[in-house]
Amino acid sequence: SDPSFAPSNVPSVPTIRKKLMGYVGFANLPNQVHRKSVRKGFQFTAMVVGESGLGKSTLVNTLFNTTLYPPKVPLAPSEERPKTVAIESIGADIDENGVRLHLTVVDTPGFGDFVNNDDSWRPIVENIESRFDSYLEQENRVNRSKIVDNRIHACLYFIQPTGHSLKQLDIEVMRRLHTKVNLIPIIAKADTLTDEEVLQFKQRVLSDIAYHNIQIFQAPTYENEDEETIAEAEEIASKIPFAVVGSDQPIQTPDGRIVRGRVYPWGVVEVDNEDHCDFVKLRQMLVRTYMEELREYTNDVLYENWRTEKLLSMGVLQDSSVFKEINPAARLQEERVMHEAKLAKMEAEMKMVFSQKVQEKESKLKQSEEELYARHKDMKDTLEKQRNDLEDKKRRLESGRPLTPEKGSTQRKKGFLRST
Ligand code: GDP
Repeated sequence: SDPSFAPSNVPSVPTIRKKLMGYVGFANLPNQVHRKSVRKGFQFTAMVVGESGLGKSTLVNTLFNTTLYPPKVPLAPSEERPKTVAIESIGADIDENGVRLHLTVVDTPGFGDFVNNDDSWRPIVENIESRFDSYLEQENRVNRSKIVDNRIHACLYFIQPTGHSLKQLDIEVMRRLHTKVNLIPIIAKADTLTDEEVLQFKQRVLSDIAYHNIQIFQAPTYENEDEETIAEAEEIASKIPFAVVGSDQPIQTPDGRIVRGRVYPWGVVEVDNEDHCDFVKLRQMLVRTYMEELREYTNDVLYENWRTEKLLSMGVLQDSSVFKEINPAARLQEERVMHEAKLAKMEAEMKMVFSQKVQEKESKLKQSEEELYARHKDMKDTLEKQRNDLEDKKRRLESGRPLTPEKGSTQRKKGFLRST
């Protein structure tokens, strides 16, 4: 091991190769891992993307040797056609020699079927990302022992066997998907092309993919691998994009064998025959050899990149040297505290404004009360004065003294004259 990676305060331990004197037992570790994984079972989710009628459902049935997809009934002309790409998933638990696999296939019916397919990629990308979201959310739970991995581990992209090159739609969609899923391009219904056409079409598709910098899934190559494994990986890689034929119907060949294939007036195309199509190599890549690699690459690279980007976009800063272990739950908590502080501040401000207003109102009321009081007093005084005057007049009348006419009060004068 490289000593430069050792933390400075931990003394490095020199490695000495020793020969064991007897059986210890850790050679059984792989078996322990094996037993445990078998008991837990495996989860694998594949997505199929491509125009309808390219044989997606048939191929999925062929791949997993099940009738995962019931035969499709074409829409009657009167039936309303969907307006957007739908996302449908079908799950099945399949068992092979005691190994359980929970397989989910995500289909995208409607893809490429519209007059305008510009936005066809959108629901697909959203679906892939929402699966990442759900995984991230599970990782942040207190109890992480029961994480369900619903992320898409492989995306089979079906290319129409036109014999020309990739369509604009294919390029656009692959460019949107390639950083988020393991893309596996497939030439659908390869039995409709001759061997030569298949070879030429593959070349064009590959050069289109390279030209547009689209990343497709590559079988990993390990340095210390045995020759056989390396040869196998190269063999698989040489067949990409896989030209496949699907059929879930058993048929009889002219020499009497029962095989999965398609019958034509000029002969039989066998699905499992490597001379006829690349189905076997595709299955090897997807199921037999690289299923674990696909899951690992999804987790370690695709999901990890998405997660980093997502957290950065949420405003989590990246440390200069190490990416700080960020916990979105803690971040949410922090945001909540900040939000609460903001609310409290707003409340205090509102309270202050309120009491100010109350004070203002109070002093105004007080003022008008005083004014009222003063006016009341004035009026009372005037009335008092008038009463005194009247009392005075009354006394004088009673005592028989003549009245001195009041100035300016004709009303009273008249009243007085009349009453006499
Ligand atoms: P999907 O709409 O993409 O799911 O397509 P389906 O699987 O429903 O297949 C549409 C039609 O194509 C059906 O009639 C299938 O029998 C036929 N089909 C499926 N796979 C192949 C194939 O590899 N070659 C040919 N020639 N026809 C196929």
